[in-house]
Order: sequence, then structure tokens, then C-alpha cells
Amino acid sequence: MRSGTVYLVGAGPGDPGLLTARALELLRGADVILHDRLIPAEALAVVRDDALVIDVGKVGGGEQVPQRDTNALLVEHARAGRSVVRLKGGDPFVFGRGGEEAQLLRGEGIPVEVVPGVTAGIAASAYAGIPVTQRGMASAVAFVTGHEDPAKEESSVDWRALAGFPGTLVLYMGMRGLAEIARRLVADGRPPDEPVAVVARGTLPDQRVVTGTLADIATRVAEAGVGAPAVTIVGPVASLRDELAWLERRPLAGMAVVVTRARPQASALAATLTELGARVTEAPAIAIHPVEVDLPDLAAYDLVCLTSVNGVDRLFELVRDARSLAGPVIAAIGPGTAQRLRDHGVVADVVPARAVGEGLLEALAGLDVRRALVLRAREGRDVLPDGLRERGADVDVVTLYETRSEPLDPALREAVLAADWITFTAGSAVRSLVAATGAAALRGGPRLASIGPVTSGVLRELGLEPDLEAREHTPDGLVAALVQGARP
Ligand code: SAH
Repeated sequence: MRSGTVYLVGAGPGDPGLLTARALELLRGADVILHDRLIPAEALAVVRDDALVIDVGKVGGGEQVPQRDTNALLVEHARAGRSVVRLKGGDPFVFGRGGEEAQLLRGEGIPVEVVPGVTAGIAASAYAGIPVTQRGMASAVAFVTGHEDPAKEESSVDWRALAGFPGTLVLYMGMRGLAEIARRLVADGRPPDEPVAVVARGTLPDQRVVTGTLADIATRVAEAGVGAPAVTIVGPVASLRDELAWLERRPLAGMAVVVTRARPQASALAATLTELGARVTEAPAIAIHPVEVDLPDLAAYDLVCLTSVNGVDRLFELVRDARSLAGPVIAAIGPGTAQRLRDHGVVADVVPARAVGEGLLEALAGLDVRRALVLRAREGRDVLPDGLRERGADVDVVTLYETRSEPLDPALREAVLAADWITFTAGSAVRSLVAATGAAALRGGPRLASIGPVTSGVLRELGLEPDLEAREHTPDGLVAALVQGARP
């Protein structure tokens, strides 16, 4: 049997956005994945259901899986003809033992490929706003392991040479020995007032940066209480952070925001908020459950109303012949619903400016409707069908799905209550979340952001006052309102 290939793949420093396209491609196809501890969860989310995923990471300083066991696993699975991804934090060849594993595999005659990753020294610096080289300031950069005890005589790191190194020093694994390393660099000639930055958990949502000088960085780090994993950047470039920090300047930086939508759409809203710097907790208080229905013949109606994105998705699961949509006027309650119709190749004829039942009713005022079909959630409001009936239309209401409450586990409940903002994009989500937390817990706690008047109404009905209501009643409108509201 031909041996499988082992791919030594870098997973980057933590931000899933820094996984390379090649890494994701290999992860999707791999039979076996052996991974370190510090890798983004999103990397493992793409692996095949039948893939074998093994955590060979280190716990604390100690070794969980001894290197020789990892080696044995690599050889065993490759020999069995499997495609093996050895996934490592950052770059596999930078302090990652990737070189040793490659040598071993080469010795066993097993084909090896290497996929570089964004190494922590580069990534954490960049996310802290520190260019590791800069014309006139640093024309060289050295990656150094701080793992070695600088007091040790036989240390493999030549600290004296590094003290004289004409450029930036980026220290990995140096948190425990930081005070001693700084002292040693100064003793060997680097200026005590040389700027230093420590970037802990770089590129992750809880990244922290401590700045100082060689003289005081160890004290400052201890005071700030930051620990591994962290890189230490030593050199004049560290001072550029004052000017170039960008992460902290994003509109929602540092803000903890809860998204309560049902899962399929939660991720889009969560992604937008994350992009703007928010730390997002997804607490899908509601889940969508399709209702089994026999869809009536759409061609028999002169008006078909869609009142939600979920309704559109469900409609297209049920519709057998898209041509039945050609006859009736198609009305969408708002831009989100209209966009989802467009995704399915249908352009809505009517989209009201105000994305609520009353708005749609208004927008349909000039239309002569005899038979109307309203497609909606079980717990939908009756404003639209009642209003159409008042105008003399024959209205059928068909329930396509229902939303049900999802319980929150205790840890999630705690995260929700500790957040800065909770976003609500539907009345049903308000009811479910309040059922899970109790209204009292939400008073005076996180601020409440509502997508529009109907959702705000449900909040008020439950004795809660929204702190903010979106002007445009769409997820994007809600994001815009949050960005506005978040400004000091
Ligand atoms: N191969 C990895 C480094 C492994 S050694 C790479 O290329 O990045 C582990 C050290 O990397 C940690 O002790 C820390 O110094 C650094 N490190 C890893 N992830 C980090 C992160 N998100 N932020 C800051 N430093 C990190």
C-alpha cells in the first residue's frame, strides 16, 4: 500500500481569519488530524464527519502526549495510506518542532508537505499595531525563544549577541523568564529605556497588550496580570503602537454583544459584529422548526406575502414549480426578506419602507386584492391578514414554521448577563431569552438593542425598556444603531 502524505500545517495564531486557504482545503479533505492545543476551533469545524481528530497538545508547560507518541501516530496513520494533517499553532517551522517531525517522516520514507502559517511573532505584533521592521528604526528582526533560562551557563541562546543585535527582538515563550531576560539584555548593553511591548493572546478576542521599557516591562506585565501565550517585542518599533494601534479603534472594540437570533441567521449578524470589533456571544434563544404543510397552489392567488427570511427559505423548500410564483404580486415585509427572495431568483414587487405588518399593509393600499396568501411563522401577528380582510380580500394564512424556545446552559446565561449589549431581532427571541434569564436579571444589566417597534413592544410588554431601537428594521440597521449608540 502506498503511504499517505503528512501535511505539516500552520493554523495561525488564533484568529480563524488567519487560517490560510490551503490549510482549510487540507483540513476539509484529511482522514486524520493531529492538532496542538492552541488552534482556532473554526479549523476543526471544517473537518469531515468521519475524520479522526486527535488532540496531541501540551497542557500547561508539561507534555500531554509525549513527542514520540505523536511521532508514532503520524507514522502509523500515514503508513495506513491515510491523508494526515499535523496542525500546529502559528507556523509549523517556527518553534513548533515541525522540522523534527519532518525529519522523522522523511527518515521513514513518508511523503511530507509543509503549509506555512502566520507566526505569532508577526501576527501579534501586527494586531498590536507594531511593524517589526521599519525604515530608519529596525532593518532586521530576530525570533528568539525565551524558553531558555538566561541565567543558565549552557543556554543555547546567546543573550550577549542578542543584546548587540541591530534590530527588533521578538521573544516567544518568554513570560516566565521575562524579568531575567530584560535584566540580561540591559546588562549586555541594550538601553534600559528601550521600548518593549508584550502581546498576550494576540489576534484572539481577548488580546491584551502591555507596553513599557526594558527597565519596567516585567513589573508592568505582573501588575496587568497577563500571561502566556504571549510574545515580547523589544525595540524602538514597539513605540509605534501609540500611533498605529488599530484593533482598539474599531467601532465596537472591546464590546461584548449577545446575538439572540435563531442559528441560521445568527452567524451573519455575529460575523458583522465581530468584524467591527465586538466580542460576540451567540445565545440562540429560539430555534426554527419547519411545519409540515401542503402548500396551496400559489398561482390561485393575486397576492403572496412573505414576512420573514425563514419564511422565504421554507417556501422554496416546499414550492415544486417556481412558475407558480409568476402570477401573483409578491410582497416582502422588509429588505432582508426581499434580499432572500432575490437570492432565490425572485424580485419582490412590494417592499415597504417600514418593515412591519402595518408598513406592508400601507404599501399595499393601492392594490386591488381578491385572494391573498400570507406565509408566516405560527406565532406571527394578525395585522396583515386582518387588514387585508377589512379591504374585502379573501385571505389564507399558511404557517410554514414555528419558533421554539431554546434553553440556555448556565455558562451561556452568565455570559449573556455579563455582556454590554443584547441584540433582539424578533419578538419571539425576546420572549425566549426573558424566559431563560428572567426579566429582573436583565434590568440594569446589559443594555438592550431592538431591531424595531414590534420587538421593542414585546420588551415593554415584559417590563423591559429597550436602550436603543434601530431606525432601519434590519440586522444591518441594528448594527448601525449599535455603532452609533456605542460611541461615547
Ligand atoms: N509555531 C508557533 C509558536 C509555537 S511556540 C508560531 O509560529 O507562532 C508557542 C509560543 O508562541 C507561545 O509561548 C507564545 O510565545 C507564542 N504564541 C502562540 N500563540 C500566540 C498568540 N496568540 N499570541 C501571542 N503569542 C503567541
